[in-house]
Amino acid sequence: MARIVMKFGGTSMAGTERIRRVANIVRRQQAAGHEVAVVVSAMAGETDRLVNFCREANPLYDPAEYDVVVAAGEQITSGLLALTLQALGCKARSWLGWQLPIHTDNAHAKARIGDIDADGLIASMQAGEIAVIPGFQGIGEDGRVATLGRGGSDTSAVAVAAAVKADRCDIYTDVDGVYTTDPRIVAKARKLKAVTFEEMLELASVGSKVLQTRSVSLAMKEGVRVQVLSSFVDDDAPLADDLPGTLIVSDEELEGLNMESQLITGIAADKNEAKVILTRVPDRPGAVASIFTPLAAASINVDMIIQNVGREKGETDVTFTVPSADLVRTQALLEEHKETIGFNRIITDGKVAKISIVGVGMRSHAGIAATMFKAMADRGINIQAISTSEIKVSVLIDEDETELAVRILHTAYGLDETDEAA
Ligand code: ADP
Ligand code: ASP
Ligand code: MG
Repeated sequence: MARIVMKFGGTSMAGTERIRRVANIVRRQQAAGHEVAVVVSAMAGETDRLVNFCREANPLYDPAEYDVVVAAGEQITSGLLALTLQALGCKARSWLGWQLPIHTDNAHAKARIGDIDADGLIASMQAGEIAVIPGFQGIGEDGRVATLGRGGSDTSAVAVAAAVKADRCDIYTDVDGVYTTDPRIVAKARKLKAVTFEEMLELASVGSKVLQTRSVSLAMKEGVRVQVLSSFVDDDAPLADDLPGTLIVSDEELEGLNMESQLITGIAADKNEAKVILTRVPDRPGAVASIFTPLAAASINVDMIIQNVGREKGETDVTFTVPSADLVRTQALLEEHKETIGFNRIITDGKVAKISIVGVGMRSHAGIAATMFKAMADRGINIQAISTSEIKVSVLIDEDETELAVRILHTAYGLDETDEAA
């Protein structure tokens, strides 16, 4: 017998029919002799709809009230899944975030989970009851409902798995695993049998939305065994225990799996960044600090940064990227500090995309970035900015060239699924 936390995403929970399919998967998992808890997302599109209501009600909405509204989507699906399981003859009950409780900090709309009191949950699972938990929500130190940021149900699932010391956390979604790149963009993307925590963390943080970034860092920290797999399966499909999906594992475990190693593990694209250029910034110590200090104080995450070679004596252009959602605030802050910074003009471009290649193979092989730059140059794709880490290279390009760039790189690194292997 094992203890398993199962998580179902929005597409899997969209409507009565799909919830019934989910309930069947959960029933089969329990019938295989396991203790199970289930974490659910709101129905696909529901959170967007609720966010829009908040914007319409008050464009400068209070994050604590926003949380009251958007947490409702998961409350509905958790109740509906418990009802559906009961209709199948299973013992099931829902546990809302405040009931467990799942403690978070007070950063409404992007709260972090602290600890979870799991005693009641464990007792109920041991008694053969299926625990259904709405993802994305917890209770802040202020005693109010708090949500975890978009895609946060993955993190809820991993946190619950860590709290109940689950043997596995299965993340059910609308694709059957983690691929070399988004299979909806590249038909020849290849499913990975396993990927390391470190690579998955890097892939998630540069735009592979299959797992929320925080869920991966939490799984890595807590040593939670995570599998990504599909909920769109037939009743007689192999159980999750047969590991049909993709496992997120430690480096050592990956070596044990004896997988054919690739230089590049995956490619991700992110269209949610915007480029900012400040022209004619004084080329002197402290100038760059005067740009980024106000942005940091406003919690705006600056990603890529380039300081160009001085164009005229004593002046330079500074280019950087920020999340698109923060572009307007960024512009306002820079204008506010124009005198101190001393720039001439702000030029912005929201139509950019960041393409990243990720792989631990970069540590031991030279020339990986050069392959990327050459493959893009051969197809006339202009690179506007570059950033690197130990296992990642990212480039900023025109948004219209996103799909083309991902396909070219997928082929350039030999990742395309071959017909024999398919
Ligand atoms: P859920 O609603 O189940 O949380 P998401 O939409 O958040 O699902 O994540 C699943 C989606 O992630 C897939 O439909 C796919 O388009 C996208 N995706 C992006 N990169 C990858 C990748 N490397 N492997 C698999 N899926 C990916
Ligand atoms: N429903 C939330 C969202 O759409 C959380 C999640 O699905 O993970 O962001
Ligand atoms: Mg998701």
